[in-house]
Amino acid sequence: MNTPLPHVAVVGGELAIAWSNGEEYYFSLASLREACPCALCCGEPDVMGHRSSLERERFSPESFLLKKYQWVGGYALQFFWSDGHNSGIYSLEYLRTLHQRGCSTQISRSHKA
Ligand SMILES: [Zn+2]
Repeated sequence: MNTPLPHVAVVGGELAIAWSNGEEYYFSLASLREACPCALCCGEPDVMGHRSSLERERFSPESFLLKKYQWVGGYALQFFWSDGHNSGIYSLEYLRTLHQRGCSTQISRSHKA
């Protein structure tokens, strides 16, 4: 199990993820926070993928400020938001899913394959 982890960097209000295959995703911090997969934010998705967000948190400006992030288990990123929220674990698979849903902007600053 030594899948190379992508390089991650916070650039302005965006999180840049550079995959080992040369792809780069740029997520705005706000869209990442809104996509927080933790049970508190989202509730469990049902079989149709709908989420029953019972009490969707109210966001404050601090909610979209990233204090730090760290790798968890070698496959996921945990974000520590300035409002104290840190229970969302974003697996690489989930980040790819977000990207496919159009949550990120893909700026090809590098060469195109
Ligand atoms: Zn959350």
